[in-house]
Amino acid sequence: MRFSRLAATSAALFSSAALANDPLTPAKLVADINEVELQRVLWALNKIAKDNGGTRAFGTPGYKASVDYVLERAQTRFGREMDTFVQPFTFVYDETLEIKVTGPDGEDVFVVSPQYNPATPLPGGITASLLNTPVDDTTGSMCLESQWDGIDATGKLVLIKRGVCAVADKLIFAKAKGALGVILYNQTPGTEITTPTLSADNIGKLIPVGIIPLEVATGWIGRLAAGEDLSATLLVDAIAEERETWNVISETKEGDPNKVIMLGAHLDSVLEGPGINDDGSGTAALLEIMGSVKKYKGFPHKIRFGWWAAEEAGLVGSYHYTQNLTPAEADKIKFYFNYDMIASPNPKYEISSYENSGIGVSLLEDYLTAAGKEVEYAEFDGRSDYAGFVELGIPTVGLFTGDGAPWDSCYHKACDDIDNINWEGYVLNTKAAANAVGILAHSLEGVPDRLVTTPNLRGRDKINYQFKRWAALAQEAGSHSLCSHGKKKSTV
Ligand SMILES: [Zn+2]
Repeated sequence: MRFSRLAATSAALFSSAALANDPLTPAKLVADINEVELQRVLWALNKIAKDNGGTRAFGTPGYKASVDYVLERAQTRFGREMDTFVQPFTFVYDETLEIKVTGPDGEDVFVVSPQYNPATPLPGGITASLLNTPVDDTTGSMCLESQWDGIDATGKLVLIKRGVCAVADKLIFAKAKGALGVILYNQTPGTEITTPTLSADNIGKLIPVGIIPLEVATGWIGRLAAGEDLSATLLVDAIAEERETWNVISETKEGDPNKVIMLGAHLDSVLEGPGINDDGSGTAALLEIMGSVKKYKGFPHKIRFGWWAAEEAGLVGSYHYTQNLTPAEADKIKFYFNYDMIASPNPKYEISSYENSGIGVSLLEDYLTAAGKEVEYAEFDGRSDYAGFVELGIPTVGLFTGDGAPWDSCYHKACDDIDNINWEGYVLNTKAAANAVGILAHSLEGVPDRLVTTPNLRGRDKINYQFKRWAALAQEAGSHSLCSHGKKKSTV
């Protein structure tokens, strides 16, 4: 008895000593990733959303609970191997609580509210005469000052056609011409009306708006043209207020602090749903990779994980992080991987990058093609958290399995839940991510230096210009990018 207990004790000592010095290899990280654990995390995130009104959006209790979930691992459970900090900041939280348009015959019509819609007076809203305005489908309707020549909208609700130019521009001119509100009608019939954003920058500059179906407006316009005086009511109850939110950053104690390999995913969802593919998938992948790397030693480069806040509000958390890095701190980040939506139910395997990505693309590509997947390539389009890293010239790649049909028809909807996952593709992508960080944790061969001198990548204006150009190209190509991701909502 005694002998066997001793034997057991020394065996335990031996194995824990061996573990303490167990060197990290890409193969070990890959082997540690498994479907059951990924499912466990996504199940937990799904439950967090369910328990908090169906969302994990920034500014809501569901987001706070998501932060706590990550901290429970990074800080509480892995505190011996990981250094973790929370980076707080504030941003405008926006939510339309109620929107209503009542037509000339007292009928309530289908209506959509854009993001950052200002409130009307309450509880009655605005009741006023309707004023129709000219349509210009080439340059956009009522977006140029000249299009408003001779129009007096004082005290009116103005009917304007949607499309081509930014909704906010239409509202700015309508306000200048004295309008109380705008009834925007969609370019195409039906109630499939996408939600544009008026953008947080315009808070305080706009008048309230409701977006109604084309056919409803067509009826009203016909009656106005026939000389009828029609009035309608627009009611918007909305909040826009600064709320505190938090990035979570956690890095291995192991590794050279001057040579950091970073992985990022956004921790928030949209208000409309639990965000399990977008981006519970990236969030859980990072948690599982962290749970693996923290078991090992003997890797020369530090591994850092970032869970970004308020991505869906316009990449706010990741920009907050990158813009607060000193040049010296930015220099230390040798590579950034972005994992945003890596488990779409009908996945494509799209690697996005820019010219400074070096070996990063092939690290992911080689792993996925070896597994028999066909890989697609895309240029960065500024719609996810890589943008701030690209701006700093840090070598960066992203992996993405597609949003909207045919890849993920629950994108940004309530049905982006635990059933909205392709597990086979997800496990593979997480293993590819683990493999890639495992390689770079040992060697930076093939990784270029941060681009600090290339003029077309310096400065936010230049990068934004580049992103706009990419977005315009995507739009011309008629791609799904219109229903965009990250900077998720179109301004048009
Ligand atoms: Zn996302």
